[in-house]
Amino acid sequence: MEPYINFAYIIASILFIYGIKMLGSASTARRGNQISSLGMLIAVVAVLLTKGLAFEWIIAGLALGSIIGAFTAKRVQMTGMPELVALFNGFGGLASLLVGWAEFAAHTDNSDMGVEKGAAVVVTILIGGITFTGSLIAYLKLSGKMGGNAINFSGQKAVNALIALAIVALGVVFVTTHSAWALYALIGLSLLLGILAVIPIGGGDMPVVIAILNSFSGLAASAAGFVIFNNVLIVAGCLVGASGLILSIIMCKAMNRTLGNVLFGSFGAATGKSGKVVEGEMKAATVEDAYYVLEAAQSVVFVPGYGMAVAQAQHAVKELAQILENNGAEVRFAIHPVAGRMPGHMNVLLAEADVPYEQLAEMDDINPIINTVDVAIVIGANDVVNPAAVEDESSPIYGMPIIKVYEARTVFALKRGQGAGFSGLVNTLFFRENTRMIYGDAKETITNLVAQFKD
Ligand code: NDP
Repeated sequence: MEPYINFAYIIASILFIYGIKMLGSASTARRGNQISSLGMLIAVVAVLLTKGLAFEWIIAGLALGSIIGAFTAKRVQMTGMPELVALFNGFGGLASLLVGWAEFAAHTDNSDMGVEKGAAVVVTILIGGITFTGSLIAYLKLSGKMGGNAINFSGQKAVNALIALAIVALGVVFVTTHSAWALYALIGLSLLLGILAVIPIGGGDMPVVIAILNSFSGLAASAAGFVIFNNVLIVAGCLVGASGLILSIIMCKAMNRTLGNVLFGSFGAATGKSGKVVEGEMKAATVEDAYYVLEAAQSVVFVPGYGMAVAQAQHAVKELAQILENNGAEVRFAIHPVAGRMPGHMNVLLAEADVPYEQLAEMDDINPIINTVDVAIVIGANDVVNPAAVEDESSPIYGMPIIKVYEARTVFALKRGQGAGFSGLVNTLFFRENTRMIYGDAKETITNLVAQFKD
């Protein structure tokens, strides 16, 4: 059976890689997901062909996991997706930790474990433990069950460094002596390190942390693959580890920040910059004013941000887009890579509302032509359209790539009040001559605009 099982693992690995590649574009992502799932099914079936398995435990675990997974995935709101991903990562880490622990428990005489396997157990437990508790903290911060502020105490970095040193020492003790106390201490300290590493990071940066922990959960699975000598687990774990890391780096680049700044510097404090004082005033417009301008517009670009997710305005936005198109306007949606609170946040919401993929434009495609656009409608986006990022060297977000909506002929900015965005900065866009603020919940404003067109 062995050669067939390994052949199945190779097929599964190819399907994983192919599936991930297809996730790179919105139009092929759904298919990519299905192909990867098929790979996972093949891998699972191949594992089940291994001799000597206790099927009663496998069936019980499968049934319980599937019921809980299906129930939570069905129930979760689109805005709750980042938290759910955090929880899933965390349980992935816990599963790897348990594999490492179980391998230790399975050896009656641990001296026959060997140095390599002992080291694999240590790495599995360390990364798995950090991923589990780190993800739980990320979940609590994102869901608002715990305050979003960074939690700092004096000597925090020194405490973390001491714990890391103790973990290394315990790892060496375990690999050389295979003693149970070293393993249990290692589990405890890894879990503690996960908590202490994530509490000093602010709630707004949790999506980056989740991408990193996602990468960690892959590495933990890969290490678990070395513990139980399972090739497909090693490959799949590495794929998750690498793609999670690439995603974290893409997100940091789009925010013009380093990974180190997200993980170790509380945002804003690191640069000490606060930006120029803005002069002038924000000019408000009514829904009726906006209607007359939109009625005559030939080209309209919607720029969604976190506020669209909060307002759940995507369906109303789609309806307005349809009306504008029927009215003869060219309609596009410009999406910034870190608009919202997770990668692809806006794409997911717009896909839920059935906005055609062809209408979605990336930042680099829309910026060169935005000066030809009649109206840009900014829906609950703030930092990702702040001209200070281009014009004000003293701004903490200076250098962050933005969608240059200020170059459009007219800009309507939809938000509830004069509150700041994630970065806490004043947005100079709102003070521009060609910008009009339409205050109120984005869904309500858009629904009222739709009603104007229908009247
Ligand atoms: P921001 O968080 O900068 O701004 C959101 C805006 O939405 C606010 O100005 C708020 O104003 C408005 N808003 C909130 N609720 C509503 C509502 N119901 N109706 C209308 N408006 C509303 O969002 P952006 O999407 O522009 O930027 C994302 C930020 O998050 C960036 O700074 C990015 O770096 C950061 N970030 C993103 C990550 C990602 O993966 N996407 C990861 C980590 C950080 P008001 O209160 O006045 O209504």
